[in-house]
Amino acid sequence: NRNEMKIEFGSDPRNESFARVVVASFMTRTNPTLEEVADVKTAVSEAVTNSIIHGYGQKEGTIEIRAYIEERKLYIEITDYGCGIEDVEKAMEPMFTTGKDGRSGMGFSFMEAFMDELTVESEPGKGTTVKMAK
Ligand code: ATP
Ligand code: MG
Repeated sequence: NRNEMKIEFGSDPRNESFARVVVASFMTRTNPTLEEVADVKTAVSEAVTNSIIHGYGQKEGTIEIRAYIEERKLYIEITDYGCGIEDVEKAMEPMFTTGKDGRSGMGFSFMEAFMDELTVESEPGKGTTVKMAK
């Protein structure tokens, strides 16, 4: 629709900052505060990093972001076709991580804190979609 955008990019870690800036620039049409922009950037960054590191790991893959605005609210959907999450509820607990190299397990907690809505849909072997709104 008129207030929607979609991007697709590869799972190279350098694309994390690209994704964050694209969503931030898309949301300027809602006249957000600097704080709102910063919150959305943090949440996008956490979700995209998860797709790259956990979803795909050493594998190459595609990440899609769909964003749209409805009644001055911004909706963001971030999808990967990576390994998926076995137990979403557990994965979303603060400090839960399967990461080895000093991950703190706080990504989902940040997304929850900085956004107004967060839902995670995932199927092992198929991939993950994180839906957020602000
Ligand atoms: P941090 O974000 O603090 O660096 P983290 O990434 O481990 O650490 P979360 O972002 O909260 O913490 O994610 C928790 C766990 O959920 C991850 O360790 C991983 O097991 C799983 N996970 C999250 N996103 C995905 C994804 N897109 N694909 C597969 N697994 C995921
Ligand atoms: Mg994370």
